[in-house]
Amino acid sequence: MAATSVLSPLGFALLRRLSDGKLHSGEALAAATGVTRARVSQILSASEAAGFTLERVRGVGYRLVDPVPFLDRDAIVAALRATAPRLKIEVADSVDSTSTELLRRAARQAVDRQVLVAEWQTAGRGRRGRKWTAVAGGSLTFSLGWRFEQGAGFLAGLSLAVGVALGRALDAAGFKDVQLKWPNDLVHRHCKIGGILIEISGDALGPALAIIGVGLNVRLPSTARRDIAQPVTDLAAIDKERALDRNRLLAFILAELYQLLERYAREGFAPFVAEWQRRHALQKKPVRVLLPDGSVAAGDVVGVDASGALVLDQRGRRVRFVSGEVSLRRG
Ligand code: ATP
Repeated sequence: MAATSVLSPLGFALLRRLSDGKLHSGEALAAATGVTRARVSQILSASEAAGFTLERVRGVGYRLVDPVPFLDRDAIVAALRATAPRLKIEVADSVDSTSTELLRRAARQAVDRQVLVAEWQTAGRGRRGRKWTAVAGGSLTFSLGWRFEQGAGFLAGLSLAVGVALGRALDAAGFKDVQLKWPNDLVHRHCKIGGILIEISGDALGPALAIIGVGLNVRLPSTARRDIAQPVTDLAAIDKERALDRNRLLAFILAELYQLLERYAREGFAPFVAEWQRRHALQKKPVRVLLPDGSVAAGDVVGVDASGALVLDQRGRRVRFVSGEVSLRRG
C-alpha cells in the first residue's frame, strides 16, 4: 500500500462521498470539501495509489469502481442498539495502531469500555513486534479497553476467550467455518483470516487494564498479501456480499465480546474451555511448536487448560506450553 500521507482526512472525506458508487462532479466534490477542483483531482489520483479504483468520466466527474461502504459510527451504534452494551465507540480515519492509540490515551484518561476502530492502520502490530497488515476499506481493525479487578495471572486465558467471542460473532454474522488456532489466530481452512493482540498493564494482583486488539481481513488485495509470510484469506472469500458490511459485523463482534468479557471478569477462562476446543482448528491434530530458541517440539493437541495453556501429548507424556513465546504449526 502507498504512503501514509496518501489518505489524508481530506482524502477520506472525498472517498466517503464517493462510497455510494455514483458519479460526482469535480465541482460538487470541491464545493463539499472546500478545496479547488485541481486539488480534488490530485487527491483522488493519490487515493488510486492507495488501492482504490476510480472511473473518470470526462466532463461529468468521478465514480468509485467497486465502492466500499466506509466505517460509520452511527451505523455501528444503530446495529448495536438491540444488545445495548455500554461502550464508547469512536471511528478514526487513520491511526498508527488502534491499540497503540488506546495505550497512549490510557496514560491520561480512562479507556475502560472504549472502542477505537480505524478505517486504516498504518502501523498495525502483532505479537513480539510483528507487523499486522491492514488496508483502508478492506480490513476491520479495532481495539477495546477493559478494566478487570484481577491481575495478569487471571487474564492469561483472555486472548483465547476473545477468540471464542469472535467465533460466535462470525457464526452469527453468517461466516461459517472460521476456526481458532492457539493462541490468538483466526483461520479459515488453515489460512489466517484474523488475529488478536492483548496487552495488559496494571498491578500484578489487580486491578489491570487489558487493551484488546482485533484485526480481521475483510477484502485483502493481493498487493497486501505479498507482505505476509504465511497463507492468508479474507471474509470475502467466504461470502462476498456479507463481507461488505463491516459496520454490522463490528456490531455483532462488540455484542458478543461485551457479554463474554462480563462473564470472564467473574469466572475467568474455565467456562470457555470446551467451546474453545470445539472451535480449535488443530484440536487432536499432530502439531509442531516452534520454541523461542529455534527448537521444535512435536506432539498431538490434547487441548487447553483453564489458564489457556496448550496441552500436547508427546508419546503418552503431557506437556504444557504457555503462549507469548511460541508459535504453533500443523504437524
Ligand atoms: P503465527 O501466526 O506465525 O503463529 P503469531 O500468532 O505470533 O505468529 P501474530 O503476532 O498474531 O502472529 O501476527 C503477526 C503475524 O501475522 C505476522 O508476522 C504475519 O505473518 C501475519 N499477518 C500480518 N498481517 C496479517 C493479515 N492481515 N492477515 C493474516 N496474517 C497476517
